[in-house]
Amino acid sequence: MSEVKHYEMLWDCQFCGTKKLLGKTHRFCPNCGAPQNPDSRYYPSDAEKVAVEDHIFVGADVTCAACNYLNSGNAEFCVQCGAPLKAGKVARTLGAQSRGMNEVFESSGSRDIVKEKFDAEMQRVAAADKPSGGLNMRTVAIVLAVIAGIVGVFLFLTRTEERVALVTGHEWERVITIEKYDRFTTQSWRDVPPAGDAVSLVVGSCVQRQRSTRQVQDGETCSTVRTDRGDGTFSEQRVCSPRYRSEPVYDDWCSWTGLSWQHDRDVRTSGGLSDPPVWGEFSLSCANERRIGCQRESGREEKYLLQLKSDEFTYKCPLPQAEWQNTPIEAAFSLQVLAIDNSQAKCDTLKRK
Ligand SMILES: [Zn+2]
Ligand SMILES: [Zn+2]
Repeated sequence: MSEVKHYEMLWDCQFCGTKKLLGKTHRFCPNCGAPQNPDSRYYPSDAEKVAVEDHIFVGADVTCAACNYLNSGNAEFCVQCGAPLKAGKVARTLGAQSRGMNEVFESSGSRDIVKEKFDAEMQRVAAADKPSGGLNMRTVAIVLAVIAGIVGVFLFLTRTEERVALVTGHEWERVITIEKYDRFTTQSWRDVPPAGDAVSLVVGSCVQRQRSTRQVQDGETCSTVRTDRGDGTFSEQRVCSPRYRSEPVYDDWCSWTGLSWQHDRDVRTSGGLSDPPVWGEFSLSCANERRIGCQRESGREEKYLLQLKSDEFTYKCPLPQAEWQNTPIEAAFSLQVLAIDNSQAKCDTLKRK
């Protein structure tokens, strides 16, 4: 923020046509004596502006409702007729003007008060004609339509239909996972070493690599802003905000070695309804010892699938082992399939008919 300077707004006399009168100095037209209408004020160009020195702001001007005299913002009673100013009309202000560092302000231009008044009245009438909150209702309707559209597409894509399917076969699979204790090498940031035993950094392996970016200040962007104060003057001030650029942040990317349990192999068995499910045979070298080359079992999984057929589509769905075993070929099931792609079954909807 820099120092604030003050200048006069301009206005044009509506009665004799004199242009570029000063908002603070000329409360009346020096040519014909007509009072200033605060609605006619506008910003001057940079070349036209007239400075106001030692000006004290006491609020926007108030036009007396009884005699139309333009009073300053701190008056309680009209200077001309003595009427209380509570009912008076506070001067409306223009929106702020803003320009960049190397630009020049143009005048915001003379105002056609009669036309502005007429336009405002037309808008008011148009707004009154519509049902209350007409514009809002319209926005709400558009938003609702968009939401309905999204929901509709979602429902369309996930819609299912029921099919009847017959059992054509049985499959089972059992898997035992075997791990081996072994040396590993891997890479990571220096401050996040990998998990494992006897983990150590490979000497000389670290390289600088970009890890993230940060925002650093890179000068500032300034503009000059004009604000209509409603008392025939406006303020002009330079406003600056910091500008940023992003900068890479480097860090050490390193190699590590260590020891850990790692996936070695799967012992897999499978079959149909006539083959009783069994776990595969396997042996472990120096089972469960934390020495290089030793092995351990790390998990077991089993799956029992029904093969189903409905028209030209075939499906596979898992069942608990006991239920799977007691389901004969040709048994009938109902299940939901995706309406847009009948080959996609929802196995959790599978029901015996
Ligand atoms: Zn005049
Ligand atoms: Zn008055």
